[in-house]
Amino acid sequence: MSVFLNPKYAALEAYAPGEQPRDQQYIKLNTNESPYPPAPDVVAAMTSQEAALLRLYPDPTGKALKEKLAALYDVKPENVFLANGSDDILNFAFMAFGQNGAVFPDISYGFYQVYAQLHQVEDEKIPLKADFSLDYRDYCGKNKLVVIANPNAPTGMTIPVSQIEQIVASNAENVVLIDEAYVDFGGETCLPLLGKYPNLLVTRTFSKSRCLAGGRLGYAFGAPELIADLEKLKFSTNPYCINRLTLLLGEKTVENESYYQETCRKIQRTRDWTAEELQKLGFTVLPSAANFLFAATKKMDGETLYGELKRRGVLVRHFSQGRICNFNRITIGTQAQMETFLRRVSDILGGQP
Ligand SMILES: *Cc1c(COP(=O)(O)O)cnc(C)c1O
Repeated sequence: MSVFLNPKYAALEAYAPGEQPRDQQYIKLNTNESPYPPAPDVVAAMTSQEAALLRLYPDPTGKALKEKLAALYDVKPENVFLANGSDDILNFAFMAFGQNGAVFPDISYGFYQVYAQLHQVEDEKIPLKADFSLDYRDYCGKNKLVVIANPNAPTGMTIPVSQIEQIVASNAENVVLIDEAYVDFGGETCLPLLGKYPNLLVTRTFSKSRCLAGGRLGYAFGAPELIADLEKLKFSTNPYCINRLTLLLGEKTVENESYYQETCRKIQRTRDWTAEELQKLGFTVLPSAANFLFAATKKMDGETLYGELKRRGVLVRHFSQGRICNFNRITIGTQAQMETFLRRVSDILGGQP
């Protein structure tokens, strides 16, 4: 730290992204990327003509992409916000709506806490139940910004939309942000509530189910007034935060919805198969509606298993937080990758009592 840093950032603890080691070729099951490439039309859209157009600024309003997303999800373009990944949107949301404090589960996406700290939003972390389920009543009438990932990360567990509605209805003076980063892998979207509640903000991403993590594209749905607030902050920060190519790829992605439906179904089938196989090996596996599994075994502590897998060329994500330190989060890869993963796990546990 230099002597020049504003003291208000001295204690800030930045988010630690999943590791991206370059020392060998890993089977990468640690950052919830898709194992499948973007749709062929999306890849083909990256022409040299488009590259030459990079001399021009992108459309700061993202009008064409907003219209396509609005048509696909049956909302109006005024209900849609776009930014550089949904992390960017979460950042704006804490900046915009955190004045009364924020509340989120103790075990959830790590960035919520970072953004709370960054924007000096007082945070309250509510423990999930012992079985990692979320009791919606804990979030009713909080009079704070409520942030819930549904499905949750890193557990993969969901709550029904009927419970989200109770949370949204009982916090009418504050924004309720539902992070639907993983909804395409079997979760239930709360989008149908949008017209009814001006305080509901739903964030989504192209990074997971749309095979575009490297493109950095996130979107959100909310009442036009909420979206206008976010636009104001975006246009006060960086109106061009989404580059031209990514905007174009986003449009092509929306046009190829059926390809992504199919890859999501494939990932779900591989997930359910992998969960069964892990259970056969004696693992506890939480019920996942996402593109990852959260699993633990009594035969070996989570960190050791993570290390042994890494030595054998398979990367998973381990979190050292006390309650979950015995678990690993395993992104669902291709069927072949998961077969290799399971063989490595068997090898590692083979010598264990
Ligand atoms: C991956 C993830 C995000 C961030 O996605 P980007 O669009 O890549 O920034 C947001 N929320 C949750 C819960 C995630 O797991």
